[in-house]
Amino acid sequence: MLNLILFGAPGSGKGTQAPILVEKYGLIHISTGDLFRYEMQNNTPLGLEAKSYMSQGALVPDSVTIGMLRNKVLAHPEAKGFIFDGFPRTVPQAEALDALLTELKTSIKVLLAMEVADELLIERVLGRGQTSGRADDQNVETIKKRLATYRSETVPVADYYAQYGKTQVVDGVGSVEEISARLFEAIAAVK
Ligand code: AMP
Repeated sequence: MLNLILFGAPGSGKGTQAPILVEKYGLIHISTGDLFRYEMQNNTPLGLEAKSYMSQGALVPDSVTIGMLRNKVLAHPEAKGFIFDGFPRTVPQAEALDALLTELKTSIKVLLAMEVADELLIERVLGRGQTSGRADDQNVETIKKRLATYRSETVPVADYYAQYGKTQVVDGVGSVEEISARLFEAIAAVK
């Protein structure tokens, strides 16, 4: 199996690059943000719980997120591999993911860390907010809170995988094609 983590701050281009990687490598795409938005739109208890955190730019608690992710992975026993987008966002989530993949006799091959400067991230997320309808993309204070959460809680996940030589840093500024080419190269660079 080929299991990838697409990693980066809000606005770093994960959602743009994920379908390109899915198509090239035949992977199942799991975006925890998309899963929460689907639950919210359907007003499920999980969606209502997630909404209170998402609207504040905070993370949904690990216990909720890990359970949801686990069910989604187990629903695809035929998968050739997964691309995890927006997950793991905390070190406990990374540990839970590694344990789940070990149960399935597989592991993460590489964490692809897309780097973009903060000013450009804010500009991109606000631009997306004009068409996405996402409340959390339309308010500068909420976006700044999400970036702060990313720095404090999520960046340690890249350090966690770096211990195992699995983190590849990729410049996230350029055309969509240029960035895809960098991601392909970074995937090929890891044994
Ligand atoms: P995203 O679409 O990945 O930017 O996620 C939007 C929001 O969903 C985040 O700001 C969090 O509130 C929540 N969320 C998504 N993925 C996770 C996760 N792995 N852990 C906790 N909260 C998450």
